[in-house]
Amino acid sequence: MTVIKELKEYYNIDVSELRELPGDVDYQNIKYEVIAKDGEKFILKIFPGKDELELAKEETRICNTIAPMLSFRVPVTIPSKNNRFFFKSSAGEAKLLRYIDGEFIMNVEQTPGLLYRLGEKAGELTCSLTGINSNTIKSRRLFWDIQNAGFSYNKIDLISENPTRSQVHYFLDRFREFVEPELHLLRHSIIHGDLNDHNILVKNGRVEGFIDFGDSTFSPVVCELAVACAYMMMNKSFPLEEVLPLVRGYCNTFPLERKEAELLPELIAARLCISLCNSAEKKHSGRESNYVLISEKPAKALIDKLITLNPEKMRDSFLGAAGFEKGSRERKREWIFSVRQANTGSSLRLNYEIPVYMTGAAFQYMYDEKGNTLLDTCNNIPHVGHCHPVVSEAISGQLRLLNTNTRYLYDTMAEYIEKLLGYFPRGLDRVFMVNSGSAATDLAARMANAWRGREHMAVLEHGYHGNTLTAISLSSYKFDGKGGRGKPGNIIKLPLPKLFRGRLASGEEYAEEARDILEEEKEKGNIPAALFAEPVSGCGGQVPVAPGYFKSLHPYLKENDILTVIDEVQTGFGRPGGYFWGFEKHGIVPDIVILGKPMGNGFPVAAVVTTGEVAGAFDTGMEFFSSFGGSTLSCRVAGAVLEVLDKENLQENARKAGGFLKEEFMKLQKIHPVIADVRGEGLFLGVELEDEEAKPATKLASYLVNGLRMENILAASDGPYDNVLKIKPPMCFSVDNSVHFAGVIDRLLSVYPGG
Ligand code: PMP
Repeated sequence: MTVIKELKEYYNIDVSELRELPGDVDYQNIKYEVIAKDGEKFILKIFPGKDELELAKEETRICNTIAPMLSFRVPVTIPSKNNRFFFKSSAGEAKLLRYIDGEFIMNVEQTPGLLYRLGEKAGELTCSLTGINSNTIKSRRLFWDIQNAGFSYNKIDLISENPTRSQVHYFLDRFREFVEPELHLLRHSIIHGDLNDHNILVKNGRVEGFIDFGDSTFSPVVCELAVACAYMMMNKSFPLEEVLPLVRGYCNTFPLERKEAELLPELIAARLCISLCNSAEKKHSGRESNYVLISEKPAKALIDKLITLNPEKMRDSFLGAAGFEKGSRERKREWIFSVRQANTGSSLRLNYEIPVYMTGAAFQYMYDEKGNTLLDTCNNIPHVGHCHPVVSEAISGQLRLLNTNTRYLYDTMAEYIEKLLGYFPRGLDRVFMVNSGSAATDLAARMANAWRGREHMAVLEHGYHGNTLTAISLSSYKFDGKGGRGKPGNIIKLPLPKLFRGRLASGEEYAEEARDILEEEKEKGNIPAALFAEPVSGCGGQVPVAPGYFKSLHPYLKENDILTVIDEVQTGFGRPGGYFWGFEKHGIVPDIVILGKPMGNGFPVAAVVTTGEVAGAFDTGMEFFSSFGGSTLSCRVAGAVLEVLDKENLQENARKAGGFLKEEFMKLQKIHPVIADVRGEGLFLGVELEDEEAKPATKLASYLVNGLRMENILAASDGPYDNVLKIKPPMCFSVDNSVHFAGVIDRLLSVYPGG
């Protein structure tokens, strides 16, 4: 082979073996391991094209300059016989490097001691590189360079799996928001730029050297450490805790500035995002190789873990490791509390005796000020996940473009309405947009009034439909509850058709009873305008309306021109898993549907969907206008929610994860007789607790909710006796989350002292 001859000619080396080494498809150079007859090893790098040559020469200059200053090895280029670093091989310009013996750090146990030493060496490398100037390196723009994480945005959609895609989007957004504006404030230098676990060699528990300076850039210095951290956090049970020795070691030789330490978590996450976007792009374009995809799996697992780490805890941990004081929110907490006490009403309630101070959230996790991450099992407003990046982008993007009201024409309302109606059966084809479930209830009541001019309304016992005067009058949960003034005169209350501990055995029997009550009222001249009902009574304790109830009552309502108003505020948008709306299970098409909560993922948008006939009757001459309802912005946001639901297949996730969770609870029911009933579908479940005498176990529910909080799980209870665990998490709640949640409940029930 000519290369062998050339090595003899230029270096006087007798080659016994030549082995090609793997490389990234983005680079053209070819690498060989060379073994000489006397056993000495070298690395031969050949550059077939001119593109990488200038950089390779600069890399050679830099490594050969810093090598003598370092206590570890970097790839030093050996001059040839004629004292040149490059020679013209038949395959292109080539150079010969000294071989650095050792094992890749990925193949050895990464003990805290080793990581500390790695940090020290990385810091030493930084010290040596800060003294180097290179215009060639300065002019590079690499997507791998963390400061260019923004370059990866256009690859996000190439990531085919979720939750990875939305997690990457989320962290890239954080980078844009928290890191980009600070980049110019950070110390810059030439950095190696790729201290990944394939570029770090270890021998006898010591760091022997760093190889491959091919990704050197002129970047914020802290990026050097961030890359090393990103790779050393992979495949670890406790990535944050386990990587801290690396940071300590680095700071021992190159102390970080406070801002640098603070930004480390975001930089680490950004590097993982870059890597995952790169793998996705390679797969998409069919250029995947083992080398490129090697870190994809652990990077995915790590980013999934990073979501479960409170960003403030991460920041504080890195600050601590870098020798800085951590922040405290204790005084802020006291101030928030005192403002609430002094300047709002005491009717505004907080959960828990010691309330949770939330400082952030992502998907199914919430972060408190103490650094805890709380798994959210009970907030259904952030339907597609807290702070979902697609929704956040819709909000900020639209706000910058246009936000106006329904008195003008704009794209987003028509687009949204068309999209939304695609989820409804024929007939339900009129949409009125408002800003809250309560406003939607109010509007539905007005429509019902306008329908036949009737003032009476029928409602289900324990129902809740909102906080306005009208909505309260329709909500037995409120008018019959604490502080309530009892049933208003125009309200006809029908028993909640419940099967568990129910008075009647079937939906049909409850429907018959309802007909009797309505008939009695009719005789008094009180025919209601509408029946307001939830398909599953949330405040009633997650009680599904008994099957057959609506179906057998519906003909009677139709005969009497009584509208069926179904409140899907809690149950809609795919939460039941098997279907998109709660009413679908009952085989009826309501006249009016009320939507809210999940519709905007926390952005205030709600709606009334009805028929052309009802909408027509509502046009009494009076204009319907809502300042914010149906605004350009709210329609865009609601559209983003539907887009995410669809793209992330969240209805199916509700079916799968919810079904799994229900089964877990049913298994627990066999071990813990206090679990009297497990009910619901998808990610809308209820777990009813009773004592040995089949009495509501209110105290136990409170014990569980508080105990779960101690275990960093947010949970809630409800029902007339407050003895039902209400399970309605963000729709991205996973099977793993379900295992964890059920496991903690099992443990808490096992040690329940009773009483
Ligand atoms: N209907 C139902 C079933 C609800 O659960 C709620 C809110 N909890 C509402 C209506 C009222 O919605 P909002 O709080 O957005 O006014």
